[in-house]
Amino acid sequence: MSTVAFKNYIDGQFAESTVTFDSIDPSKGTPWARMPAATVADVNRAVEAAHRALRSGPWALMTATARGKLLVRLGDLVVANVGRLAELETRDTGKIIRETRAQVAYVGDYYRYYGGLADKHEGAFVPIDKADMEVTIRPEPIGVVAAVVPWNSQLFLSAVKLGPALAAGCTVVLKASEDGPAPLLAFAELVHEAGFPAGTVSILTGFGHDCGHRLTSHPLVTRVAFTGGPTTARQIVINTAENLAYTTLELGGKSPVVVFADADLDSAANAVVAGIFAATGQSCVAGSRLLVERSVKDEFLARLKRKAEAIAIGDPQDPATEMGPLATLRQHERIESIVAESLAAGGHLVTGGARPKGKADGFYYEPTIIEAADQSLACVREELFGPVLSVLAFDSEAEALSLANDTPFGLASGVFTTNLARAHRIARGIHAGVVWINTYRAVSPLVPFGGYGQSGLGREGGLDAIRDYTRSKSVWIRTSDEPIPDPFVMR
Ligand code: NAD
Repeated sequence: MSTVAFKNYIDGQFAESTVTFDSIDPSKGTPWARMPAATVADVNRAVEAAHRALRSGPWALMTATARGKLLVRLGDLVVANVGRLAELETRDTGKIIRETRAQVAYVGDYYRYYGGLADKHEGAFVPIDKADMEVTIRPEPIGVVAAVVPWNSQLFLSAVKLGPALAAGCTVVLKASEDGPAPLLAFAELVHEAGFPAGTVSILTGFGHDCGHRLTSHPLVTRVAFTGGPTTARQIVINTAENLAYTTLELGGKSPVVVFADADLDSAANAVVAGIFAATGQSCVAGSRLLVERSVKDEFLARLKRKAEAIAIGDPQDPATEMGPLATLRQHERIESIVAESLAAGGHLVTGGARPKGKADGFYYEPTIIEAADQSLACVREELFGPVLSVLAFDSEAEALSLANDTPFGLASGVFTTNLARAHRIARGIHAGVVWINTYRAVSPLVPFGGYGQSGLGREGGLDAIRDYTRSKSVWIRTSDEPIPDPFVMR
């Protein structure tokens, strides 16, 4: 029985749950903490508290400037607690400590950015086409937000929802994933310490079929912000048929990275390796589909193979480790199965494809590269969410673009070339929400992020995100002193 226990944070209180479950340390494959599974009753309490906080009480009366100050304080607290939050995320998800430290420190900037934006989101005065009327547009908070995140990068994926939602004046019930919820449940202590009024933010974890379903279909919820996989996204859309909540979806990808022969090949190889093997490939923007110009394919693959085989795989808490385990046994089994299927269907294994030697425990998997003749292999078409790179060769720019766009997804993409005009042509032609030219994986609170097609609906980040958490109210005022004539008296 695990000795470490976490609690849900509901209506300003840390609450025991009647149901608990074990969280597994992915580097060992054994339980390390007890987590509270929020019940439907817990969700109801959190949503009702959020609704109360939105309608009455200190949050509802607070100026946008005061809300912004709370968000900035929260950002400062995140930065002051990077060590603990990063250690918990590494422990609970297996993401290496180098990555969690850097990412959590940056999360502070997201809260500061939206804190600064809170009192700069203005309404409008409409130059109305009626002489005796004036119309103003008031941006009002959209309401109670149900935010649902997956297990990877939970602090980061919550910040892009909580930041704009709270800046806009909404209240939020945030559901951490049942896999690796420790960092978000610990983050709840910082929300409390920052001084958000009770009910403004509740943070809980639990399972999708009861807790997640109730949260996203609750009649008092008017906005759902979801990040996760496409199958769950479809379920969320069904859930919101009940409350008709405005919904944004940040989903997965099968992002292409296009390397032309004129690129700086060593720089491109480093970016490709980081794009697919950072976070053990468990990243929505993983550059999992390499498209490389045929004339440099062999040379480029040789570089990639060398770099992939040199990656230090090991204990995620060790700062020297470059790649940790997968987060769950389920993921490990799925990747083993898709790699086996792809190799049986004709894929050529360049490197990897197995559990690393000497790593009998934990959910470790080697950095893997598979060359394919066409796009039919499962490892080329499906999002694996693991350290598996598929490789295809192309002969012309038109073919590269056609291969890049031959996917139902459209989240991210990368282009490596020294030809400026070509870089612009590809950026224009690619169907994806993000195009990185001669770089990969750069993100910022200032820049919108989101997908095309099966990769999602809506954008997070940047100025526009706050607009997605407001609804406009049109206020008409008649400015004439003349009485309104009786409409039923003929003149
Ligand atoms: P998932 O879809 O299985 O789970 C995501 C969340 O949804 C969890 O909190 C889960 O409990 C909840 N959920 C499950 N069933 C539900 C239901 N019926 N109703 C309401 N909520 C429910 O995703 P995962 O496996 O944890 O994460 C991996 C996926 O997330 C990948 O597809 C990845 O690409 C995607 N992702 C996308 C982004 C992005 O910004 N686009 C970022 C990170 C991860």
